[in-house]
Formats: sequence, structure tokens, C-alpha cells
Amino acid sequence: MIKEVDILLVGAGAMSATLGSMLKQLDPDLSVVIVERLDKPLQESSDGWNNAGTGHAAYCELNYTPQQPDGSVNVERAYGINARYEVSLQYWSYLVKLGALPEPTKFINPVPHVSFVWGEDNVEFLRKRHAALIGHPMFAAMEFSEDPEEIKEWMPLVMEGRDPSQKVAATRVPYGTDVNFAAVSLGMIEHMKTQDHFDLLLNTSVKDLKQDADKRWTVSLKDEVTAENYDIKAGFVFIGAGGASLPLLQKSGIPEGNGYGGFPVSGQFLVCKNPEIVKRHMAKVYGKASVGAPPMSVPHLDARIIGDEKALLFGPFAGSTTKFLKKGSVLDLFKSIRLNNIWPMMRVGMKSFDLIKYLIKETFQSSGARMKALREYYPEAKEEDWTLLTAGQRVQIIKKCEEDGGKIEFGTEVVHSSDGTLAALLGASPGASLLVPIILETIEECFADRLATEEWQTRVKEIIPSYGISIVSHENLFMSIREDTLSTLKLDVVK
Ligand SMILES: Cc1cc2nc3c(=O)[nH]c(=O)nc-3n(C[C@H](O)[C@H](O)[C@H](O)COP(=O)(O)OP(=O)(O)OC[C@H]3O[C@@H](n4cnc5c(N)ncnc54)[C@H](O)[C@@H]3O)c2cc1C
Repeated sequence: MIKEVDILLVGAGAMSATLGSMLKQLDPDLSVVIVERLDKPLQESSDGWNNAGTGHAAYCELNYTPQQPDGSVNVERAYGINARYEVSLQYWSYLVKLGALPEPTKFINPVPHVSFVWGEDNVEFLRKRHAALIGHPMFAAMEFSEDPEEIKEWMPLVMEGRDPSQKVAATRVPYGTDVNFAAVSLGMIEHMKTQDHFDLLLNTSVKDLKQDADKRWTVSLKDEVTAENYDIKAGFVFIGAGGASLPLLQKSGIPEGNGYGGFPVSGQFLVCKNPEIVKRHMAKVYGKASVGAPPMSVPHLDARIIGDEKALLFGPFAGSTTKFLKKGSVLDLFKSIRLNNIWPMMRVGMKSFDLIKYLIKETFQSSGARMKALREYYPEAKEEDWTLLTAGQRVQIIKKCEEDGGKIEFGTEVVHSSDGTLAALLGASPGASLLVPIILETIEECFADRLATEEWQTRVKEIIPSYGISIVSHENLFMSIREDTLSTLKLDVVK
């Protein structure tokens, strides 16, 4: 039985898999253990069917390019997200070249990313957005069309049966991606299994953790099969427990975790596996979120490729829940309430009228209402071709804020102890697409001394060629990197 490790990663999801894999690339001698409560890795949010698999690069997500009061479109966030996603693509390309990941089509496929809008104002917005984005080579491949016939060629299901008098517009980037985050993460785990000093403990829950006088962590585990309890000592702990990261962060007792709360929202999608329909839609089509709806509720009609299966997904629909994990407990939310987060949570409850109204409406909507929403994107959709799928849980971050007492955030945040011995990942969006830059930032915070050494500096630049350089402002570097990632990951051939 393992007694001591350098690195203990809680949860076998995409985040822990990536952090473990990156650290083992930087120093293969580090001993790494991933502890997972379920009998298999990647069964929660990172499972292929529990998320939408969109490689978020800001090609199609309209909420990343807000319209300003003067009517202009702000593209800063879109540039930042595209550049960060390129970091994930660089890491996956590096692992593919190393033979440490399976053939790319097993986990990533080119699926054009399309933004689709209707109505005079929205068409005008999309035209401006396109003009503002294409100035940078990151978005130069983006096409714009207001021609219904051309848009129909891009996505026949979206245009067939649509009112011909409706003014429509779309943009398209051919090498948008569909990612099976479970497959890429499983590839990393399988590769780590071939390395020395790596263990994956399944059916094992982390119950508690406390820091000892020597700064190392004693992590209390329970074997869920034998009910045996035991401890492992670790120099560094990463809490990558998805929705359940918050309670473990609270148990760690680090002051940096004070004031955080969580607000769980469950996700649902309509799924179609009818091959006759599936083969007619090869795009991820994102529209505009309705007024007052949170950013993760943007409607989209997606082509998905998961293993050998192809499907269409429409959603997401949200649901009220008190569970922090899909396979969690209804008591999760209540158990996370502490003296230090009750006020921020109450303030958010008092202020988030639009969000609460949205969730109540979503939770109690009928299947007819869901089909009505789908038909805005696929007018001729038939109910018998679609089933409702329960996807993963998102736990949105609630945190203290000076002005207002508390606020809700829809992003991702890594909370780490000041001594760099523990980090926890909270939040859900933009999610798994940006996991590599998030993991790199965690390494910068928690392994600063080692990362400063010549050895790690050389390694990290071999792994991520753009490391430390902004590819937004270095266009030539960006272009050479993109050429490489597109060809290594086979994204330059649109199927
Ligand atoms: C509906 C939905 C749609 C999404 N769509 C997208 C998308 O299109 N694109 C995108 O980039 N991202 C998307 N995301 C986000 C993405 O899925 C997540 O950001 C990502 O999967 C999170 O990975 P993780 O490793 O942090 O968590 P998870 O995959 O949830 O893994 C956490 C693991 O920790 C384990 N665990 C929990 N508690 C313990 C414990 N005490 N002891 C041991 N193990 C424990 C769990 O069993 C689980 O295996 C979506 C998420 C949802 C819910």
C-alpha cells in the first residue's frame, strides 16, 4: 500500500489527468497518484456524453464578443480564449508526436464552428463581429454569409423549413473542433501507467486532508470496496474533484478557501442518433442566449463524435439540483454552507432574480417546450428522433466581494495555498478546452522554484512551443504553431 507520494491528485477527471501528465513530462521521477472514488476514471463531467465536447476557441460563442454601448464589438476576450485553446492544442500535439496519445481522430475531430442568428439587429451584430475578428490571423479563416442558399449548404437542417422572409446570417470556421475530453484524458492516464512512479487508485474516496508541521499533507482515504480507511502523505495535493472540489477545499482549512460557495446547475441535452439525420449535420451551431439567461445556457446544435458513435446534441437545458456531482448526494449544497460563505451565498440568492427565474423555467419546462427551442435551430425536427440526456453537473463559483457581499462567477478559478502545497479547481467554464493553460498556471503558482530551473524551462518550451510568449501579439509564431497543431491533430482536413 502506498504511504508517501510527491503529488496526490484528487479525482480522475480531465484536470487531474492533465496535471499529472504535464508534471510527469516535466520530471518523470516525480511520484504521482490519482485517487478516484468511482470504479472507472472520467465518469463525471469529463465523460463524452456529460459535456458538449466543444473545443472552445471563440469561433462560434457570441457571448465572448460583447457588443459595446457605442455599437462596436469587443474582441479581446475572444482573442484570449483562442490563444489559450491553442495552448491545449499544442500539448495534445506534443503528446501525439511522442506516441503518448492515441491517433488524434479518436479524441479530436474537425467540426465547423458556426454562429447563427436571425433578425435585423443580430445580423448587424454578427457582421460587425466578423469584421472585427478577421483582422487577426487567428480568425482569418472565418467566413460570413447572409445568403440563405449558402448557409443551407453549410447546415441544411437549420435552413430547411425556415420562414424564407426571416433575415438570417452565419459565420463559419471550418477547423472548429469536437473533442472527446474523456478519450484524450484517458490517453494521458494510460500513458502515465507505462511510466514509473504512477498509480491510479479506483474505488477510493478522499475523505479528509490536513497539513502537518512539515508542510506535507496527510490525505485520509476510504477504499469503497473493502471500507478500509488509510492515509497517504503527499508533498502536493491537487483537488480536481469537479463539482466536489469545494467541500474538499473547505476540509483542507487553507485560509485562501474562505468565503467560497458553490451553486450547482445540472445540464441536459436532447440527443438524436438517427443516422439519416446525423449525417446531414456537420457543424456546431451556436446562437444567442435569451435575455437574463446565464452564459453557459447559449443554445447550440452540435455534431458529436464519441468513439465510434456519431450523434446530434441540442441544448443545454438547465435544471435545479443540490448535488455537486452527477453521482453525488442531494445534501452536497447544504453541507457546503459555512459561517464564512453564508453571507456571499445569501447575497447572490437575493440578487440573482434573473438566474433563479431562468432555472425555475428550465426545470419545469415540458418536452414540448424543449422541442420548440430545438425547432428554432432545426425547424423540421421530429420529437420521435430525440431523447433527453442528463449530462454533467456544473458548480458555479460564489465568492465574497467588497461592494456587494457576494457574487456568482461562471468561469473557472484555481485556489491555491500561499505555500504552494495545495491547489483546488473550482467552477466550470469555458471548461475542459482550456485545461492545459489552467494547469500551466497552477504549475507556475505551485512549482515556481522548479519551473524557474533551466531544466524545467527547457522542457516546458519543448512541450508548449509558445510558452511565455503571447501568440496574440506574435502573429508569425502563432501562424507556425497553428500550422503544426492543425496538421498533427488532423484538423486541416474537413470531413
Ligand atoms: C453540461 C456540460 C457541458 C459542458 N460542455 C463543455 C464543452 O462543450 N466544452 C468544454 O470545454 N467544457 C465543457 N464542459 C466543462 C467540462 O466538462 C469540465 O470543465 C471538465 O470536464 C471538468 O473536469 P474535472 O476533471 O475538473 O472534473 P470531473 O470530470 O467532474 O472529474 C472529477 C472527478 O473527481 C472524482 N471525485 C469527486 N470527489 C472525489 C473524492 N472525494 N475522492 C475521489 N474522487 C473524487 C469524481 O468522481 C470525478 O471522476 C461542460 C460541462 C457540463 C456539465
